[in-house]
Formats: sequence, structure tokens, C-alpha cells
Amino acid sequence: MSIEAIRPDLAGLERADLEAALEARGHARFRARQIFRWIHRRGVTDVADMTDLPRDLRAMLADAFSLSTPAIVAREKSADGTEKFLLRLDDGRQIESVFIPDTPAMTFCISTQVGCAMACAFCLTGKMGLVRNLTAGEIVGQVRVLAGALDMRERPFNIVLMGMGEPLHNYDETMKALRILADEHGFALAPRRVTLSTVGLLPALERLAREPVMPNLAISLHAPTDAQRGALVPINQKYGVADIIAACRRFPLKKRSRITFEYVLLAGVNDSPDDARKLAKLLAGVKSKVNLIPLNAAAGIPFERPSDQAVDRFAKILADRGVLVSVRRSRGRDIRAACGQLLVEGQRKSPAQKLAGAMQ
Ligand code: SAH
Repeated sequence: MSIEAIRPDLAGLERADLEAALEARGHARFRARQIFRWIHRRGVTDVADMTDLPRDLRAMLADAFSLSTPAIVAREKSADGTEKFLLRLDDGRQIESVFIPDTPAMTFCISTQVGCAMACAFCLTGKMGLVRNLTAGEIVGQVRVLAGALDMRERPFNIVLMGMGEPLHNYDETMKALRILADEHGFALAPRRVTLSTVGLLPALERLAREPVMPNLAISLHAPTDAQRGALVPINQKYGVADIIAACRRFPLKKRSRITFEYVLLAGVNDSPDDARKLAKLLAGVKSKVNLIPLNAAAGIPFERPSDQAVDRFAKILADRGVLVSVRRSRGRDIRAACGQLLVEGQRKSPAQKLAGAMQ
């Protein structure tokens, strides 16, 4: 292992851990607040630029820690204002992050893994397989880079964990990243501004239900029955529809908040009136809203997007049964930045990673 790899990354430390690390090296704990502000609020990428820190502290930081910042490799802007960022991590792996303006909020769509192990049948990221988990520093790093590049450090934004990867499959680093983002001396991002989207890994979902810092929850449901969902979302063979809905019923929700159920509409597969009726029945009594996502088609994805008419018909059946429903007008399709279209080619997995993936 290189020396670089064993130096803790300042960008991925929670403030309490940074305080403890400083104290252990004979420095004052309050310096952590200053360091946090430099990294997360002001976006410095080099401890030498933390000009209000004593010289010996800066030297210690440079010596004992690293400070990782994803590098922008490419930046592409859609006709609708959506911007896709291709970012390079310290080990050369690449990920994508997306800025979606005016939804009406400003939203950053952030990745939690390089690739994804879930292999949902209609998702391009799933075709990559899992290359590796992102660290908390790399998850927060995407926010640091986008906020800087878009001149949004002083402006409010939301975060959706809907980029590459399955956030609950990288639980600890994802939750650590959310705590760092929430820190009052960093981005001070309120948890209600964050939405975590998951295929529904049950044990992790139960864990999430007990977290003190709780994001909004979105569940990628996509079908009302196990037979249909199993064919689209492989992990459904382990955690089925009934179990997921039961966990959602138990999930502690704040007043007025609801669980979002994402439902990718695939022509002739899950978009029939009967499917809509079954979905309405399944969600009866769940504090929910349904977000319909007409498929974003791509080469290699063996499904078709339903007609607008079929989408409207599906939505109306839900609405008529009292289900809150919206249709996601996918943004950035012209630059392949829309849902399920994030793919970085040519990132070969090592045999060990393939083995680890197969053992999940
Ligand atoms: N792994 C997380 C985050 C994925 S991305 C999850 O599964 O929830 C966010 C949403 O985009 C998910 O609901 C996902 O199923 C959906 N999606 C994936 N591929 C898509 C495609 N080709 N068209 C439309 N939506 C897609």
C-alpha cells in the first residue's frame, strides 16, 4: 500500500473525528471548525491555503493527512440547463454527478459508488457492475466540486442520492457523508434537503429507520408484484415487494412527509391499467407519493418508453384512487444525464472485485 493511501482524507472526516485527531497530536480542538470551513464552505483543496491556521498545524496536516478533491474531466450542458460532470477520483476511477436547476429547487444528483451491483434490467449504470464504493470524502467531494464550479456555495440546494450506485449498499460511507454535509460549520445542509433513493435493501433500510440524521426516502419499486419486479430488479428475489412495503409502513416519518415510490414505466411490461390498479391497492394506507419515470431509453436497454398517453392513463388511475402521483420529466436526456443513463465506460473490474461483487 502506498503512503498516500494510509493518510486519512481530511475531506472525509466528521468534525468530531477531526477534533479528536487534532487533540491527539497536541493541537486545539477548535481548529477543526476552521478546517471544516476551509474545506466545505470555501472549497480549498490544499492545506497551504488555510491561511488562518498556524504554520506548524498546516505542516502537520500536510504531513499526516491527505485532502482529496475529485477533478473535473468534462462538463456538458443540456439544452434544458441540466449539467453533467465527469469527475476523476484519486485512483483514476471516474464517476458522474449531475446538476439539475429549477425543479424548482437547485438539485445536485450525487453518486455513491463507481458502478452498481444491483443490475436493474433497464439501468445503464447497472451494466457496469460494481467497481468500488465511494468514500464519504468522495461523496461530499462531488458536492464541493459542483457547488464551486456552479458558483453555488452561498445558495441553497437539494441533494438526491440518485447518481451512480446504490446508497444503502455503501451504507456507512453514505451516512457519514450526510453527517458531514449537515455539519453547521460545513455546508449546514438540512436533512430534509436530501433524498436517498434505494432498491430497498431491507436490513439497511431498517438501520436507516433508526438514524438520528434522516434523509427523505425514495424507494425504487417499479412493479406491483414479485413476478414483475423480480424480472426487473434482481435483488427482489431476496427482499420482495411485501417485505419492502411492510418496512415502509414501519418507517418513522416526520409530520407531513411521505415516502416516494419511483416507478420506471416500461411499455408493455409494467404500464397496464391493471398494474396501476394493483399499485394503488398495494400503497393503500402508506404515507406515499408515486413518481412515475417514463423509461429513458438507451442502446443496450431492451425496453421501450411508453407513449405519453399510456403514462397519463397510468397516472390518472392512481390519482382517481387517491394516490399522490407525479411524472418525472427527465432532464438532460440529450447529454445522457437523465435517470439510469450514467455510465463511465472502460473501467475494468479486477478479479478480486468481481469476486467480492458475486459474494454480496
Ligand atoms: N440505486 C438507487 C439510485 C438509482 S437512480 C435506486 O435504485 O433507487 C434513481 C432512479 O432512476 C431509480 O429509481 C432508477 O430505477 C431509475 N432509473 C434507472 N434506469 C432508468 C432509466 N433507464 N430510465 C428511467 N429511470 C431509470
